[in-house]
Amino acid sequence: MATPDKPVDVVRVSCEVCLKEVPIAEAKIAEAADYFAYFCGLECYEKWKTQGGKADQPGPRPGS
Ligand SMILES: [Zn+2]
Repeated sequence: MATPDKPVDVVRVSCEVCLKEVPIAEAKIAEAADYFAYFCGLECYEKWKTQGGKADQPGPRPGS
């Protein structure tokens, strides 16, 4: 069967905000409109939420 000394294959995901790779078990996961967004921590998650939850949206307006 499987060899016990073989390292476990850890699935890694890229943080949606800073693009840092983190093990999926440690990532924060947010469910967006049609995909899942992963974050290295709450800080990036909050940042992403503040930005409106989508990286590729045109944005409301260029702003003042
Ligand atoms: Zn991050």
